[in-house]
Amino acid sequence: MSDTIEKVKCLIIGSGPAGYTAAIYAARANMNPVLYQGTQPGGQLTTTNEVENFPGYPEGVTGPEMMIELQKQAERFETDVRNGWVTKVDFSGDVHKVWVNETKEIHCDTVIISTGASAKYLGLDSEQKYLKLGGGVSACAVCDGFFYRNQEVVIVGAGDSACEEAHYLSKLCTKVTMLVRRDEFRASKIMAARVKNTENIEILFNTETEEVLGDGQVVTGVRVFNNQTNEKHDIPATGFFVAIGHKPNTDIFKEYLSLDETGYIINVPGTSKTNIEGVFVSGDAADHVYRQAVTAAGTGCMAALDAERYLAAKEANIEVSA
Ligand SMILES: Cc1cc2nc3c(=O)[nH]c(=O)nc-3n(C[C@H](O)[C@H](O)[C@H](O)COP(=O)(O)OP(=O)(O)OC[C@H]3O[C@@H](n4cnc5c(N)ncnc54)[C@H](O)[C@@H]3O)c2cc1C
Repeated sequence: MSDTIEKVKCLIIGSGPAGYTAAIYAARANMNPVLYQGTQPGGQLTTTNEVENFPGYPEGVTGPEMMIELQKQAERFETDVRNGWVTKVDFSGDVHKVWVNETKEIHCDTVIISTGASAKYLGLDSEQKYLKLGGGVSACAVCDGFFYRNQEVVIVGAGDSACEEAHYLSKLCTKVTMLVRRDEFRASKIMAARVKNTENIEILFNTETEEVLGDGQVVTGVRVFNNQTNEKHDIPATGFFVAIGHKPNTDIFKEYLSLDETGYIINVPGTSKTNIEGVFVSGDAADHVYRQAVTAAGTGCMAALDAERYLAAKEANIEVSA
């Protein structure tokens, strides 16, 4: 427990596109936002080289550059951007309590959660190597598929999202090979049927990745094995897409907030409100469908506006329904 408890009108947790956009709006509404960046200042986009689909950058921009600009824009309106990791919350009372780095205690009128989600990877050394090099490993077909137009790619996964992403890639790439670990899809029948009926998608069941192959800089193929026969073969490919799910960064909130079975925060539809008054959510922490920078930014804006209206109503002593 800290000696001095800080009081904050609007605390924003997370420094991705959702958090910084919430900060820009909250700061311009005189809410004096304090934003904690977490261990990944700038969020997921800092792990990618090229962002070509965020409006306002006709030539594209690197993820780290874009996030520095968003931070500068939030700071221009005097958002207090801080290093720190939120380790615990207590949303049981009227004042929302948040602890940073286990020690610093903050009492908040409103909290905006923008803690994002992390893509799951297989964890193979070769996969991580080419992921870090930006050389052909991706967990987002909508983000990166365009870079593989008229090329051959491999995608791993068996759920609805994997089918959706494989289908998306099939419209850009000459061939998509889909690796499914079991002898059937986990996806709904309709999604599975869609990929099965797409001419340039080849589905390999009972098949797993042994190694992502490359020339030291970029991916050139994937070595796979059949987990029934142990037979191996190499598939030529310039892109390796991993679609085995995401983990929302929401563990610290689960005691208080309604989460779905994967851990995404459940918001009141069409708003950023959670089941706790004064606590709002934005970005990938609540979004298992779109997961894009621009949608994260959009919901960051919603969260700040919802928080501002909540505070105004509270200050005017008007009862607000959740
Ligand atoms: C490799 C890659 C490429 C991508 N390319 C594109 C693209 O080209 N275009 C596009 O639109 N989208 C792209 N995306 C998706 C996009 O990055 C996400 O949709 C977007 O970043 C989500 O924003 P967010 O603000 O919700 O969360 P995130 O960007 O995930 O940021 C979460 C933030 O929360 C912080 N945090 C988490 N827990 C805590 C805590 N307990 N305390 C304090 N801070 C915490 C983290 O440090 C981080 O700053 C890509 C994603 C990846 C992984």
